[in-house]
Amino acid sequence: MARHSARGLFVLGLLTLAACASAPGKPPSVPPAPPASASATKPAAQPNAPSPEAAPRPAPARPAHLWPFTKIQGVEWVKLDDVAAHFRLKTAWSKPGAELTLSDARGVRFRFEANQRDFYLDGVRVFLGRSALLHRAGLWVTRLDVIKTIGPLLRPEDHLAFLPAAPPRTIVIDAGHGGNDPGKQNLKLKLDEKDMTLDVVLRLKKLLELRGYTIRLTREKDDRLANEQRADLDRRAAVSRDAKADLFLSIHFNAVEPKDAARVTGTETYVLTPQFQWSSTDNSGDSLTNTAFPANRQDTANVVLGYQLHRAMLAGLKTSDRGFKRGRLRVLLLPECPAALLEAAYLSNDKEAARVGTPEFRQQIAESIAEGVQSYAALIAALRAPPPPAK
Ligand SMILES: [Zn+2]
Repeated sequence: MARHSARGLFVLGLLTLAACASAPGKPPSVPPAPPASASATKPAAQPNAPSPEAAPRPAPARPAHLWPFTKIQGVEWVKLDDVAAHFRLKTAWSKPGAELTLSDARGVRFRFEANQRDFYLDGVRVFLGRSALLHRAGLWVTRLDVIKTIGPLLRPEDHLAFLPAAPPRTIVIDAGHGGNDPGKQNLKLKLDEKDMTLDVVLRLKKLLELRGYTIRLTREKDDRLANEQRADLDRRAAVSRDAKADLFLSIHFNAVEPKDAARVTGTETYVLTPQFQWSSTDNSGDSLTNTAFPANRQDTANVVLGYQLHRAMLAGLKTSDRGFKRGRLRVLLLPECPAALLEAAYLSNDKEAARVGTPEFRQQIAESIAEGVQSYAALIAALRAPPPPAK
């Protein structure tokens, strides 16, 4: 195992990251050795042994469905009509030749637009690896996006082998930044990201403990886990491994350049980009696109978790939907459990930052995240419920 992980760790220093959990791109120092329990052969779908009372049904093999695809310039594309047919959805052009909807008895479920990187599932904005492609009078998405995003979101029950055996119990929550790393700042309102994240995390801890979860924090006061940024981020991820956590949540606030500050507000949610996929902020592959990280074993659970968290944040905060995105963010590379990074709101926008500055809004953020965790846990519990007795 050490070989794979060590190689993954070695290339981490090449990262250039878009979100505020970014690391400088200079070559890495020798990374801390992963704990002995971290094994590349450990089954990805079982971050923790299932409890006796939550004995799972036998996991099926990989879903047998092979998507018909067309290769264009080396990339495999699946026509959305074929996706719709497989999932028994009806397609309709809402804007001829530009916007396609996929519907079922509940109404419109998916909305895709030609040349757009994002789509909407039940009104929630989700980013694809590549923009939807208009080709031969149809709209196409990459096979990777169907397998890694669209399929697991619509039918997680088809992916049981890649989902946790039981709902989460132990959750590690990471308050982004700390100590001499303030994170993003709103100087006018005297707000530092590191203080806002810690406050939200302490509120979230209480809420989740009331719901029966065991919570461990990466930090409980204004400090960081290491002075060097990459070591700091790696130690945060390592806390989740040491705690044998079932979930890892890293809480952050966002910012853009001053020229965009008045315009950009809202909530973003990140999970690790699958191997071979482009991250949401890249218009081409980065140097790590072909690398499989330890946390890529959780791709399916990550997408289910990220969607539930993002949906709950939007519902609870009424912020604008900046999208459920993918990134090779350093803190997301190493956890051995499903992991997400939340950018709750923008400190660069004075109006939104003023909201963040109130305890009421930070409490709402914590409650929204707790709702998202609960939705994810309920979904896993439902998927793992014993089958009804045979008649
Ligand atoms: Zn941050």
